Amino acid sequence: MTTTAANTARADQLAAAVADATRHHHRIAAREHLPLLVIPDNPWLADQVRRLHTALTNRQALVCPHITGSPSVVYAAAWAPGLLVCPACVGQLRPADDAEDGTCDRCRRHTDALYAGVVQTGPLLLAYGLCRHCIRRTGLADHHPGGTS
Ligand SMILES: [Zn+2]
Ligand SMILES: [Zn+2]
Repeated sequence: MTTTAANTARADQLAAAVADATRHHHRIAAREHLPLLVIPDNPWLADQVRRLHTALTNRQALVCPHITGSPSVVYAAAWAPGLLVCPACVGQLRPADDAEDGTCDRCRRHTDALYAGVVQTGPLLLAYGLCRHCIRRTGLADHHPGGTS
C-alpha cells in the first residue's frame, strides 16, 4: 500500500468516525432532550477541547483500552478532564457522586439547576454541565431552554 492509499484509508476512517459521532450525538440529544451543539463557535467549549488535546499530547490523558490509533467515536466530559473513553466505556464518565453531579464545570459551585449538554467536534463528543450563571457567561444560554429566564 502506498502512502497516499494509506492516507486515503485513514481519511475514510475519520469521515466514518465523524458520521458515527454525529449519529451518537443525535441519539443522545433526542434521548436526554439536550441541545445539539457543534463547536468551535463557543470559546468555553473550544477551551475544554483544547485542554483535552493538551492532555493527550502530554500523555497525561486517561484513555480507555479500546481506543486505538485509528479514528473512532470518543467521549469526554468537562467534569472529568483528560479522560477519554469509547462508546462502550461511556459509563466511566458518570459523575462519581451526587455532589459532582450537581457541580458546575466552570465555576465549580454546587447548583440545583445544572444545564447539561453534549457538543460534537469531529469524532469527539464532549458532555458538560453548567450552572445558570455560567450558561449565560459562556454564551450557551440560547441553546438551553430556560437558560435565559
Ligand atoms: Zn472502552
Ligand atoms: Zn457556574
